[in-house]
Amino acid sequence: MSEKIKAPRGTFDVLPEQQGVRRRIAETARALLEGAGYGRLDTPVFEETELFARGVGESTEVVQKQMFSFSDQGGRELTLRPEGTASACRAYIEHGMQKRPQPVKLWYEGPFFRHERPQAGRYRQFHQIGAEAIGSDSPLVDAELIVLAWDLVTELGVEGVRLGLGSLGSPAARAAYLDELRTHMRSREGELSAEVRERIELNPLRAFDSADEGTRAVMADAPRLLDRLDAADAEHFEQVRALLDRAGVPYEVDATMVRGLDYYTRTVFELHCDRLGAQSQVGGGGRYDGLIEQLGGPPTPANGWALGIDRLALALGEPEEPPRVEVFIVAEPDARERALTLAIELRRAGISADLDLAERSHKGQMKQADRSGAARAVLLGEGAARVRDMSSGETAEVDLGGLVDRLREAPAGGGEGA
Ligand code: AMP
Repeated sequence: MSEKIKAPRGTFDVLPEQQGVRRRIAETARALLEGAGYGRLDTPVFEETELFARGVGESTEVVQKQMFSFSDQGGRELTLRPEGTASACRAYIEHGMQKRPQPVKLWYEGPFFRHERPQAGRYRQFHQIGAEAIGSDSPLVDAELIVLAWDLVTELGVEGVRLGLGSLGSPAARAAYLDELRTHMRSREGELSAEVRERIELNPLRAFDSADEGTRAVMADAPRLLDRLDAADAEHFEQVRALLDRAGVPYEVDATMVRGLDYYTRTVFELHCDRLGAQSQVGGGGRYDGLIEQLGGPPTPANGWALGIDRLALALGEPEEPPRVEVFIVAEPDARERALTLAIELRRAGISADLDLAERSHKGQMKQADRSGAARAVLLGEGAARVRDMSSGETAEVDLGGLVDRLREAPAGGGEGA
């Protein structure tokens, strides 16, 4: 036998019995977001590499190490999308959405790709639901988005979720702060890990995330960006907080929150679930007021978030369930073809139905009927049919001609359908 081929490292299959929780997550998100005026946006799963290099930021780990990039047959440099915001902004600009009433509210769902070291909750192909509101700098936008993310995890029933909230301020205030931070770090350079030392110039904020003991000691004494916001940004942050308080959404202010992508300004937030292990972040987002302009569009403030579907599914830990049908048809050997005709008729009438397609014995088919989860089985013989209620075991003779109508009626005892 030749060697088996497996799914690529860091990827996985979602089997039929594993679909339920994912469908519920996607459907709950769709209803919630469309119920708040967000319209679905689908973008390609690959884009020009330049979009992410400019949009996500050259200095970020995502762009430096994690992109699945390739040249196509025409020599174009392309990348499997590592996140959704850059694509949403590209689409906003490309379709002239600044001419629509602002903010333009979009949501998306689908697979994303990052070349990370795989572990529980961290994959190379993962799935996100995201929401973006582009075209307004009002704190109302920040609050609406954060409340939607909070309400989504709450409605799904994810337990142990904490919301962390911060502000990164404006680019100018942030630049001045970064200089101050670099000076602080350089004054105690010897205590920092080699990796952090190397990144003082490029991205000193990431040092707040370090697990290294020496680095942690230096960062514990470091100035905080939240204390260096200019008056307008501080006021914006206060308003977002007040709106969240009004909406009854609990949050913790996190003065050292660092998001992994470069484009954030002002409000940033993360949702963590303490039921998950090391990869506890189920979602995050924030304001990116400079991004649209950076991508060649007009100056346009915006805000958005993404939640990880795979991590939400892990946190919910729902039992697997095979797909179910309402009716299972068990056929005598001479009624097999009629069984398929009946199944087709039932399906066309809107009743989900399945049948044996492998010429099993009567006993084998009954077992299959049991496993199908069907509320009722039709026992199809030569010129006659019986309907069996699978929970009570009650069986009734039914005229072949009236079978579809009979099955349209609710099953006795109100047994549930699929
Ligand atoms: P980010 O785009 O980095 O802000 O991530 C948003 C959310 O996507 C995270 O909170 C995770 O839930 C999820 N996520 C990001 N990267 C991965 C990954 N490699 N595997 C699984 N989920 C991920």
